[in-house]
Amino acid sequence: MICGTRADGDFADPAAAVAHGASRSLADVPWTWLRQVHGSRVVVVEAPGASRGQEADAAVTCCAGAALAVLTADCAPVGLSSPEGVAGVLHAGWRGLVAGVVGATVATMRSLGATQVFAGLGPCIGPHAYRFSDGDLAAVVSAFGPQVRSVDAAGYPALDLPAAVAVAVERAGASLVAQAGICTHCSDDHWSWRARRDEARQATVVWRPAR
Ligand SMILES: [Zn+2]
Repeated sequence: MICGTRADGDFADPAAAVAHGASRSLADVPWTWLRQVHGSRVVVVEAPGASRGQEADAAVTCCAGAALAVLTADCAPVGLSSPEGVAGVLHAGWRGLVAGVVGATVATMRSLGATQVFAGLGPCIGPHAYRFSDGDLAAVVSAFGPQVRSVDAAGYPALDLPAAVAVAVERAGASLVAQAGICTHCSDDHWSWRARRDEARQATVVWRPAR
C-alpha cells in the first residue's frame, strides 16, 4: 500500500493522471480506479486494470499483478490485505462508513478466501479540523458510538474520522495494524478540501505483485 502526496500530482481525473505517467513512480502496472460516490459498493477485480471506472467505493482482488486505487483529499483511504493473498482498498467518508463500506469490503474479501484481514489507514482529516453539523454527527455517532464525537479547534462539534474507521474495521472482524497519522488539513504535502478547497486528489494504491 502506497499513499501518494501532492508531489505525485493530481489524480482527480485518474484516467488522465495515469495516462500521463503520474503513477509510474508508484506502480508500473495498470490501475483499477473507481468513480467514488460515498456508497458501499465493492467491485471484484479479476485481472490487472479490470473494472476501472466503475461506480463503487471499494475494490478487492486475489489476482496477482492487480493494483487497486482510491482517490481522496480529506476522506479516509484504507488498504486491506490477508495472508491468503486477497487485497482490497476502500474510500471512506462519513456517508460511506454509515452505508457500511468497510464491512462490505471485508465480507467480499472473505468470500474470496480471506480469513484474517489486516487494514491500514492512510492520510485523512483529523477531528480538530473536521467540524460537523449536529445532524450529520448524530448519524455517525448513532452508527459507531460516542467515541467518534469530537470537537474542532474552535470547540464546535467535529467528527473523529480515524476513530470511526477504527470502529468499523473492528466490527468487520479485521485488524487495524497501521495508521499514517497524517492530517490532510494540516499537511503541506497532501490535498485537502477543507483546508484550501483543493479539487485535486491524492491516490492510495494497494497492489499484489505479479508472480
Ligand atoms: Zn489537522
